[in-house]
Amino acid sequence: MEYYSADINRLVDELAALPGIGKKSAERMAFHIINLPADRVKRLSESITAAKEKARYCAECCTLTDAEYCPICANPKRDHKMIMVVENPRDLAAYEKTGKYGGVYHVLHGAISPMNGIGPSDLKLKELLERLKGDVDEVIIATNSSLEGEATAMYISKLIKPAGIKVTRIASGVPVGGDLEYIDEVTLLRAFEGRTEI
Ligand code: ZN
Repeated sequence: MEYYSADINRLVDELAALPGIGKKSAERMAFHIINLPADRVKRLSESITAAKEKARYCAECCTLTDAEYCPICANPKRDHKMIMVVENPRDLAAYEKTGKYGGVYHVLHGAISPMNGIGPSDLKLKELLERLKGDVDEVIIATNSSLEGEATAMYISKLIKPAGIKVTRIASGVPVGGDLEYIDEVTLLRAFEGRTEI
């Protein structure tokens, strides 16, 4: 049964296809958007298009940014010899919000998951190994404590160990299966400070 016009249905369907948005929320958002002044709607749609068009991977850490180097990699005050490996840019943001980490990052864009057909070559691992040819003191593996995150951590540590670089894993203050992005800053900092060599 179609209640709305084809255009409204299309908007609802597009919104409902976003993560965490159910059909009801999508309808609420769609009607909210339709009731906004035209210039607000234009700004919203332009911000989506611009973010998508300008998005690119940082040439150093592979996070999403709009320049060759992200603001963290471009900052000479950061410790470029300390690399924290995270699964996605949201995990990077979670650690940045603590304001206590002075090193740089490497964003894998996923975790190894044989069940979902995601293998090492689907992650930004080649780029990580390339960086390790430079001057690096420590690689901190901060992948999630899910099955996939742990498998990825093991894989990376085996990969890096022969290079003689110190490899550490964040402590298990992070709940099992927990996504880094949802964990409070105190827990994140404790996990970072309690990291152990693997
Ligand atoms: Zn970067």
